[in-house]
Amino acid sequence: MNWWRYTRKPSVPERRERARREGRELERKMAKSGRKPSPVRIEGRAIASTFWGKAWCGNLESYRDYAYRLPRGRSYVRHDAVLDLDIGAGRIQAVVSGTQLYDVDVSIKPLAKAHWARIKTQCAGEIGSLIELLEGRLSDRVMGIVTDRERGLFPKPKEIEMRCSCPDWATMCKHVAAVMYGVGARLDAKPELLFTLRNVEHGELIAAAADLQVPSRRARGKTIEEAELAGVFGIELAELPHARPSPKKKRPAPAKRSGGKSRAAGKTGKNAKANRRGR
Ligand SMILES: [Zn+2]
Repeated sequence: MNWWRYTRKPSVPERRERARREGRELERKMAKSGRKPSPVRIEGRAIASTFWGKAWCGNLESYRDYAYRLPRGRSYVRHDAVLDLDIGAGRIQAVVSGTQLYDVDVSIKPLAKAHWARIKTQCAGEIGSLIELLEGRLSDRVMGIVTDRERGLFPKPKEIEMRCSCPDWATMCKHVAAVMYGVGARLDAKPELLFTLRNVEHGELIAAAADLQVPSRRARGKTIEEAELAGVFGIELAELPHARPSPKKKRPAPAKRSGGKSRAAGKTGKNAKANRRGR
């Protein structure tokens, strides 16, 4: 295999072909334990094209510590080298095709409770629905809050611990860089994974808005937009701002964050379900 290393760099089609071959091998290996790989495929020129995906990549690129390895990572992820990517609470695990297959393991610290509480308070009344949140259709103000380098949702280098099984291991090798870009691409399709990664429940941002006693002017202004959205998706948005109870009625306390699925089952549950159907 050293032939690749010492004679010439493999061409892009060769790298893709190797990744495909290794991907099939990995699939066979994982099938033995009843699992299936989840590869990263980049369609088009941009690695990420939605608000959340682009914001993730933008956050990475804003740190000088990572600048040296990021270009190789971009090239790797574009050439289908991330053969498996699994994002869970506080953890990213991946298999990357290189000179051989490498295991990448990234730990990310959960958002501190006080930090998350502050974000919820700042966003209260500003996000009209789960669709708006997940599609990143947010006001400039909310975008500024969630992407703030110090106080936003995205992890800072000191909150990220990276490991790779390759011999070329530095703070961030090209395999880890590829995986980190892969996360950006994955957030395009599954933006809720950012919240999973930071160990917080995204529905609480909407709940925080609904808990406001008097809906803000901004939230009331969403009514027409949401009515249009309901028409477009052919769904019923269960909790439009105008359907909120009168300010004098006390709403039940928000569901505790103990269970996974039950978290969304409170006031946002119907919305979440309807929204998913509509997508
Ligand atoms: Zn590596």
